[in-house]
Formats: sequence, C-alpha cells, structure tokens
Amino acid sequence: MKSVLTESSAGIYCPAGNFYIDPRRRVPRAVVTHAHMDHFRQGCGEYYCSSSSAELMRLRLRGKPKLTAIDFGSRVALDDVTVSFHPAGHVLGSAQVRVEAAGEVWVVSGDYKRDQDPSCEPFEVVPCDTFVTEATFGRKGAKWKPGGVVMGEINDWWRENRRSGKVSILYCYVLGKLQRILAGMSSLCDREIYVHRDAVPYNECYRRAGIELAPTVVVPRKLDGRTLDGALILAPPKYLQPSWYRRFGDTVTAFASGWMGLEDSRKHGYEKGFTLSDHADWGQLVKTIEETGARNIRTHHGDATELNDYLAGRGLDVSSLNQP
Ligand SMILES: [Zn+2]
Ligand SMILES: [Zn+2]
Repeated sequence: MKSVLTESSAGIYCPAGNFYIDPRRRVPRAVVTHAHMDHFRQGCGEYYCSSSSAELMRLRLRGKPKLTAIDFGSRVALDDVTVSFHPAGHVLGSAQVRVEAAGEVWVVSGDYKRDQDPSCEPFEVVPCDTFVTEATFGRKGAKWKPGGVVMGEINDWWRENRRSGKVSILYCYVLGKLQRILAGMSSLCDREIYVHRDAVPYNECYRRAGIELAPTVVVPRKLDGRTLDGALILAPPKYLQPSWYRRFGDTVTAFASGWMGLEDSRKHGYEKGFTLSDHADWGQLVKTIEETGARNIRTHHGDATELNDYLAGRGLDVSSLNQP
C-alpha cells in the first residue's frame, strides 16, 4: 500500500490527494499550516488554509491567490483523501493538518506549542497513526516557563527602565510573537505600547479576529522634539540598529524568543533576553507525541537527534524527514 504522505524535494506530498503540505517550492496545490514565511511559497496554483489564518495569508501572498479557507474541524475531500485542520496553538489560525486515506490517519503538526496563549486557538490533540512533528526545540535543555510568568517579567523590566527614564525596546517576530505580547500585556499595562509600523496590518487582523490586544500607538517616523519617555516599543529584529533607535535617547534592548532560553542574548546583540517561545519545549513535545497515540513518528524542523533517540527508546518507529 502506498504511504499516505511521502517526501519530495518540494516538501511533504500526498499522492492520493495530489497536494503538498507547507511546500518549499511553487506547486499546483498547497495545504498551508500557518502564515509564517518558512511554511509556504508565493505563486502556487491554489492554497488551502484554516479560516482564521486566511486573512494573514492574504496579507502575505502577493497578487490575488486562489485560497480556500476551511474551518477548524470541518472535513473536506481532496481527490481520494479527507483533510481537516486542527488548532496548533502556535500563532493565530495555525493548524495541524489531518489527512485520512483508507482508514489510515496522518497528522502534520506544523509549528505548535501547548503553553497557554491568549492570542490564538489552543492546541488540540488529534489521535493518529503517524504524527509528523516539528522538533525545533527537540532537546532536553529546552524548558519554558508559562507565558504568563514571562509577561510579568517583561512588565517588571519595563517599569524598572521607566523609573530610570529609559525607553525599553523589545524585539520580537512581527507576526505571532508581537501580538502574543500585546495580548499578554493587555491586562498588565496602564498605558499604550508603541509598535513599529510593520506590525500594524497584523495587529489589525488579530483585533478583527476578536483577540484583545493592549492599546497601541505607532512609533512616529519623526519625533520632532518629542520624547518617548519611559515607553515600551515592540519592533521586529531587523530594526536592531542604532540608526533606528538612537533617536529615542537612552534605550535598553531585549529580545523575546525561545532561543533566549538556550543562548546568551548578548551574543545576538541584545542587552536582555526573555524566553518566550511559540514552539513546544522538550516536555511539551514528548507529552504531545504520547497523547496522539501514534506509533510512527516523523520529526522535522530542527536537529531532532536527541528526540529521535528518546522516542526510539520508548519503542516508537521514528525517523526524521529531510531538512529543507
Ligand atoms: Zn511558525
Ligand atoms: Zn516554522
């Protein structure tokens, strides 16, 4: 019997449904887990995604793409297979893709996390025979604090900087992490948070989806003598340049990412790091794999050597997909 999903140079392919999941090349039919750039390509013939990621996908796809939005949990037939999307808890609309053919079920996780996150739908465990799991942090050293605790730390850091008259610049990815911080801060902060203008279309998408974000103001292009005294600014990492932030006066920089739990923030040019990840840590990966009940595990994204060894030791059939 042919495998439900196979690997090809363009990514994970479903022969019976004639589609690719998160393709790395332009393909006729793409099923996309979420709107991060490493999970789709421009110029595919048609796209399928979850309904709540459709608006984000339209923002990121050029031209007028043929895009079919499918509600979480509803089943559609693509040629000879049944496909459905299930929340992955990574960013707004992020999905796991369930593919069923001849009674056999595969689930492709996309990126996912189990930590509570007010800015997106919570992860759903989907029972399957084969689970294709991301393994970005598939190492025992990856262990995250709950996001709510990290939000408190961010708020304390901001208050402390404010007391000494400094502007706090917190760098974070513009789609997903930035809105997670705004959602987490909405109940903690007592004033507006400045955001880089690149974040505005994404913030609007989140607000339209009913996600409550802290009140925001766009960083003005020119300050014209004004000061942003004691402000918190959220900006994408590409603006970690003195030419951009010098005008704010006395500043402190930080980065919010899972990598800050494993690497020194100063190595990356930030004065401080907050370990805030939208990927599963070691414990969440192992727990999720167990809960799916899958006997066959395929790992991808990241170095999964440690995870593969651990799972093989537990009697599972495990191997890695080729990395892009
Ligand atoms: Zn992602
Ligand atoms: Zn990714």
